[in-house]
Amino acid sequence: MTRLAQTLGLNEFQTEIIATVRRFVDREVIPAAAELERTDTYPQALVDTMREMGLFGLMIPESHGGLGESLLTYALCVEELARGWMSVSGVLNTHFIVAYMLRQHGTEEQKQRYLPRMATGETRGAFSMSEPELGSDVAAIRTRGTRTPDGGYTVHGQKMWLTNGGSSTLVAALVRTDEGAEKPHRNLTAFLIEKPVGFGEVKPGLTITGKIDKLGYKGIDTTEMIFDGYAAGADDVLGGVPGQGFFQMMDGIEVGRVNVSARACGVGLRAFELAVRYAQQRETFGKPIAEHQAIAFQLAEMATKVEAAHLMMVNAARLKDSGERNDVAAGMAKYLASEYCNEVTQQSFRIHGGYGYSKEYEIERLMRDAPFLLIGEGTSEIQKQIISKRLLADYRI
Ligand SMILES: Cc1cc2nc3c(=O)[nH]c(=O)nc-3n(C[C@H](O)[C@H](O)[C@H](O)COP(=O)(O)OP(=O)(O)OC[C@H]3O[C@@H](n4cnc5c(N)ncnc54)[C@H](O)[C@@H]3O)c2cc1C
Repeated sequence: MTRLAQTLGLNEFQTEIIATVRRFVDREVIPAAAELERTDTYPQALVDTMREMGLFGLMIPESHGGLGESLLTYALCVEELARGWMSVSGVLNTHFIVAYMLRQHGTEEQKQRYLPRMATGETRGAFSMSEPELGSDVAAIRTRGTRTPDGGYTVHGQKMWLTNGGSSTLVAALVRTDEGAEKPHRNLTAFLIEKPVGFGEVKPGLTITGKIDKLGYKGIDTTEMIFDGYAAGADDVLGGVPGQGFFQMMDGIEVGRVNVSARACGVGLRAFELAVRYAQQRETFGKPIAEHQAIAFQLAEMATKVEAAHLMMVNAARLKDSGERNDVAAGMAKYLASEYCNEVTQQSFRIHGGYGYSKEYEIERLMRDAPFLLIGEGTSEIQKQIISKRLLADYRI
């Protein structure tokens, strides 16, 4: 079998759920994506089906109402969803990171309070680190929580680029709380902020601005979030101990990077599928363009990139599932998969000739979606920083 992006050694449940997601994508996501994207409409019906399929609880432990699946199962489902439309996988992404952080770092009370509702998709997560002045330099966060006499916090500041900002009901937000530590990242605390769906002042002192108009990744809401004297309780601190937020968020981002690689794999695979079909249909100089060696070789290159990205992504997910640290593997997978995805969509676009520039062709959307993967969960430069730092320590002379 030479079909791309196959994964050896899956169990029966994994094989079944991945096939179910693929069917859903082929029957419901791909046919609906173009119109939803054109009108920048939230894919509510698709999200409802994803809830019914149990996708919001994939990695939440069975003891808290989820399916208790591995990161690999999750990533392979995300790959399938992104093959259909990256925005649909984006609905899951921040939710999955917040659920993972709760699972790893939440107090027992926080787990019991949120995880069962997250498993059904009734409570939906968003993840907020970035601010208008910073994204890569997380330790420089300015949003500030000041301790109140009752042990709670008053929060002031502005957050930026909140994926699922309006549609989520639970935001994990990183805030400076000044614990007196010398290193800036030790003064950061992650707060769990419950809020209603919607835009405007959704709670006293908490405003979710309207959707940011983006190049691609449409349908899904990306917003700002403004704290203006928001009152957070001491029990809203993730894990109950302030000053741990940086490490908790970085742990979340690490699995998030596998998730972004999976998305890149899905988008890249779809770009290849579109190109390999078009190249056999379109004729120039009396034969299908696939019979011109220049085009056939492009297809070979694209397929090789799709395979390489898939293998790196699977490796990073399996490493995390085995209990090993996977910062380097996740960084490499995210870096390679997102860069390759951009190259492959560009190649597919070229193979489509002028039609690739038309909104009637799916590749036009992929061309606008793919660049976000170079940025989200850390840019390529940041991945290279993480990879090289660790390798220089491991290979120190
Ligand atoms: C659509 C969208 C959705 C997003 N969703 C979320 C979300 O849900 N939650 C969230 O918290 N954030 C989110 N983000 C923010 C995203 O994580 C940041 O945009 C990203 O981390 C980059 O940060 P920045 O934009 O501030 O760029 P900067 O950090 O300002 O970087 C600008 C450029 O400088 C480079 N650079 C920075 N530092 C270095 C260095 N030390 N060495 C070399 N080069 C460097 C970067 O690679 C980049 O090319 C989202 C962004 C977008 C566009």
